[in-house]
Amino acid sequence: FAALRAAFPADLDATAIEAIGADGQSLFYSWRDLDQASARIANLLAALNLPARSRIAVQVEKSVEALLLYLATLRAGHVFLPLNTAYQSAEIEYFIANAEPAVVVCAPANFGWVSKIAFQAGTQSVFTLGDDRSGSLLERAAHCSDQHEPVASGKDELAAILYTSGTTGRSKGAMLSQGNLLSNARVLKDYWGWQKDDVLIHALPIFHVHGLFVAIHGALLNGSKMLWFAKFDPAAVIGRMRDATVFMGVPTLYVRMLADARLTREATAHMRLFISGSAPMLPETHQAWQQRTGHTILERYGMSETIMLTSNPWTADAQHGGQSERRPGTVGFALPGVDVRVLTDAGEAAAVDEIGNIQVRGPNVFSGYWRMPEKTAEEFTADGWFKTGDVGRLDARGYLSIVGRSKDLIISGGYNVYPAEIESFINDLPGVAESALVGVPHPDFGEVGVAVVVAKPGARIEAQPLVDALKGQLANFKIPKRCFVVDELPRNTMGKVQKNLLRAQYQELFK
Ligand code: ATP
Ligand code: MG
Repeated sequence: FAALRAAFPADLDATAIEAIGADGQSLFYSWRDLDQASARIANLLAALNLPARSRIAVQVEKSVEALLLYLATLRAGHVFLPLNTAYQSAEIEYFIANAEPAVVVCAPANFGWVSKIAFQAGTQSVFTLGDDRSGSLLERAAHCSDQHEPVASGKDELAAILYTSGTTGRSKGAMLSQGNLLSNARVLKDYWGWQKDDVLIHALPIFHVHGLFVAIHGALLNGSKMLWFAKFDPAAVIGRMRDATVFMGVPTLYVRMLADARLTREATAHMRLFISGSAPMLPETHQAWQQRTGHTILERYGMSETIMLTSNPWTADAQHGGQSERRPGTVGFALPGVDVRVLTDAGEAAAVDEIGNIQVRGPNVFSGYWRMPEKTAEEFTADGWFKTGDVGRLDARGYLSIVGRSKDLIISGGYNVYPAEIESFINDLPGVAESALVGVPHPDFGEVGVAVVVAKPGARIEAQPLVDALKGQLANFKIPKRCFVVDELPRNTMGKVQKNLLRAQYQELFK
């Protein structure tokens, strides 16, 4: 918090956040407001006399006040533990039992059932916070002083526990330290060339690494104003691009904006930088964006356990031969201070362009999973590298490409099939919008690929002709054994395709 606070501009009455409501009406928060309001909440937390580094679990709709609660938690020397707003009672029960937070903050409408779960798990206090500044948290904080001396924090002290998105299985709580957060925020400020007068459009959820750390730390550490949208609305966001310079989104947000005719070169003329991550961006989306707006999206790669790992360059990257190209289909270079290596299954360094397991090391890498010592031990190598679980390759110039997750890898008749490769061929077929290839059990081959395909709006596609079209292009073991045309792929709130659901759905196909 001290580092963020030190970056506030000298004019504390300037606007720090313009929160744009669904009705188009804005609420303005000055830098002084951020300082004083977070001080009040920090004082409220201090008055609870919690042990140092207590966990503050938060499941509330996105609001500026939820961000203030995050800042207050840092100020007060506690550990922020945000929870996906989509989680219902069974999930909340798991997270609260697992995390044993000292304080839980929930939406006013959920107080009844959440507080019951929380008190059973030994939580000391439960507060409510609505997205309209309602609830007991702010009522109580209003009585507290707006002056607060931040609790000093060492770099190894725990700052947050972020539960992973649960794309491949049960979510794990990644323990992130003060040093993890700050080192990464500083590197990104530099690497993405944050400018003095940058204005960030913030339209992402704030329970996840992308919206909470990458976006918020980016703006605050640069003393930059944010245009704050509680929900992503393509038209509203496009409409405010003339007042902004930086946008961060998951690929689906870009796809939705491309579907809106108001996205034009003129509408985006004031913008400086578009950043994408959290899920792979189709090269087609990348190209469509460039054609429509003239801007080249900068794709980067990270995860809850590590915050950001690699990025395409904003400008010439001196550590990588001065290259400045943002290459579609790649996630760019290892960030300064971050080590990335690709190893074969045998544990040897992969050759240039050879596919292997991505491992990372650096000041941004978490210390382990909350209360999962075995899992933590499994995911780190003896020499201290974290196994990301992603599979990819490094090219001769140092660009990393992700070809999928090791859990999604298909081994068919003894051969490795990398879903991303097959998907890119399917996506190039006429009428195809997107696809997912998943492995399902097969009596002869062990596992085979099943393609699940979505048509472009208005296009008519049929399953068998798609498979036939692949046959001349790819080796037989890579050809999907079955294909299904569906209306949409299952996605979680971060826009990630939930291949585990598809696998489960087609599990019995060849049994
Ligand atoms: P879980 O670990 O619970 O299965 P998750 O891995 O989806 O869920 P996150 O930490 O939110 O949870 O996501 C990190 C993952 O997102 C990365 O490991 C990677 O697979 C994927 N990812 C992030 N950015 C990109 C990108 N630019 N391109 C491809 N994949 C990406
Ligand atoms: Mg993961």
